[in-house]
Amino acid sequence: MTNLPLSPNIATLLPRRPSRTEAEEAVRTLIAWSGDNPARPGLEKTPQRVADAFGEYFVGYGQDALAELAGGFEEPSGYSDMVLLKDISFESHCEHHIAPFFGTAHVAYMPSTRVAGLSRIARVVDIFARRLQTQEALTSQIAAAIEEGLQAKGVAVMMSARHHCMAARSVHQTRVATVTFRFLGEFERDAALRDRFMAAVRG
Ligand SMILES: [Zn+2]
Repeated sequence: MTNLPLSPNIATLLPRRPSRTEAEEAVRTLIAWSGDNPARPGLEKTPQRVADAFGEYFVGYGQDALAELAGGFEEPSGYSDMVLLKDISFESHCEHHIAPFFGTAHVAYMPSTRVAGLSRIARVVDIFARRLQTQEALTSQIAAAIEEGLQAKGVAVMMSARHHCMAARSVHQTRVATVTFRFLGEFERDAALRDRFMAAVRG
């Protein structure tokens, strides 16, 4: 596993969080650097709007996926087979260009003593997606959090996404989907279980 923090505390990542005014000033600088006039009427409120949008895109830095899972587990009541959530939609931003990438996640786990309320798994996807990410790291972080938070015997995560930076920047590929996988525990060891996951995701 990577050393990426599952529950980053923004206070430990940054010596001082910039103020809202500084954030808006930075947007004005980028507009001017792009070649436009940040003071013209159409752009006047843009720095405010961009700061608001960043607040939404990156709200995940202030959220704790493990706390989310700890608050919502239930007894599995004898159920011990795979639990699969398909087609969880997500929106994230690439850490290289702050460009959006979005798609769907399929998340499965093998329960031990805990099953999560179903909305909790979607919340975990959302918490990690709302940070600066690579799709690979996002996939791994979701899997690691569910393994740890639910003490799951195995976790499988598959994510399929389209990346704005591929569509709009250098290579101009608009239809390419990037697919990433992370298998932990029983899913890593057991090829038949992985096959069941893949078949269920397709089916
Ligand atoms: Zn990018």
